[in-house]
Amino acid sequence: MPQVTLLSHTPDPIRSLYMAYRVCYSSLTPQQVAERIEAERISRETMETFVAERLKTGHTSPLEQVVFEFAISGVSRAFSHQFVRHRVGISFEQQSQRYVTYRDGGYPYVTPESIRKAGFEEEYERHLAEAGSLYARLVEAGVPAEDARFLLPNAAATNFKVTVNLQALLHICDLRLCTRAQWEFRKVAALMRAEVLRVEPMLGRMLQPKCGELRMGYCDEELKAWEACPIGRVRPHKEVLFRVYEQHRRGELQPLRAEDYAAIETLTGEPAPEAGASAG
Ligand SMILES: Cc1cc2nc3c(=O)[nH]c(=O)nc-3n(C[C@H](O)[C@H](O)[C@H](O)COP(=O)(O)OP(=O)(O)OC[C@H]3O[C@@H](n4cnc5c(N)ncnc54)[C@H](O)[C@@H]3O)c2cc1C
Repeated sequence: MPQVTLLSHTPDPIRSLYMAYRVCYSSLTPQQVAERIEAERISRETMETFVAERLKTGHTSPLEQVVFEFAISGVSRAFSHQFVRHRVGISFEQQSQRYVTYRDGGYPYVTPESIRKAGFEEEYERHLAEAGSLYARLVEAGVPAEDARFLLPNAAATNFKVTVNLQALLHICDLRLCTRAQWEFRKVAALMRAEVLRVEPMLGRMLQPKCGELRMGYCDEELKAWEACPIGRVRPHKEVLFRVYEQHRRGELQPLRAEDYAAIETLTGEPAPEAGASAG
């Protein structure tokens, strides 16, 4: 199972964000703003409210001034191939298979739950052990680890130390908390979110899949994927939004009918079906 630990972060993220945004919109110098914070003339509540309002806008560059440092371990190379595709606002250090030699061919690996459930765990482990044993014989014969590793599977476990800024972390969560992302990446993103929630709840709550109410608020994946997504029950799809908008623009939105008013009058108080829920 992946393990994620928040090692450190910008000392006071809300204050940093407040300073960054305030400088843009204030006639005061940043030094004067800092002095007012020190003198408690600007309260924490004021800073939080101001930052929360700014976070609703597209002014995102101040988010690059807040960073989080994570230790991530017990993840597969299948995960790491995807992780390092993120190019902006995140710096990676990853355990090397060139400089780390697995003695006696024993290497850590990840087993997907689906393989266990399908009853293939034993066969899977045997296959990985065979690769490990040939790896050991190659190393023993003088083949360098960087070449012996060609045998190692995507299942081989690896470790990271990363530093990521808040803007990049929001983007990673947009994509990787989405139910379309791979399970291991979803797990890592969820653990990163939990770590940020622990130290700065207001920012942690912002880390959502892109359809989250604090992010886009709708789904832009394929309609079919939205229909299959459990979150689709509470998030509209962009095509649905466009359809409603088009109807509204053409003045074709269906007017409320007599039976609708009758339903309003006779409503029993049972909860209404959620948006996107299938009929029946
Ligand atoms: C569900 C899912 C399935 C995927 N399937 C595949 C797949 O089959 N094959 C595959 O190869 N990859 C796949 N990917 C990876 C995907 O294509 C991206 O490489 C990865 O998600 C990183 O996303 P990003 O480029 O938005 O992030 P970052 O690299 O962190 O970029 C952050 C932002 O900066 C922009 N940006 C970065 N560099 C540039 C640039 N040079 N010019 C202009 N804008 C830039 C990005 O568009 C993005 O908005 C998949 C990702 C997901 C989430």
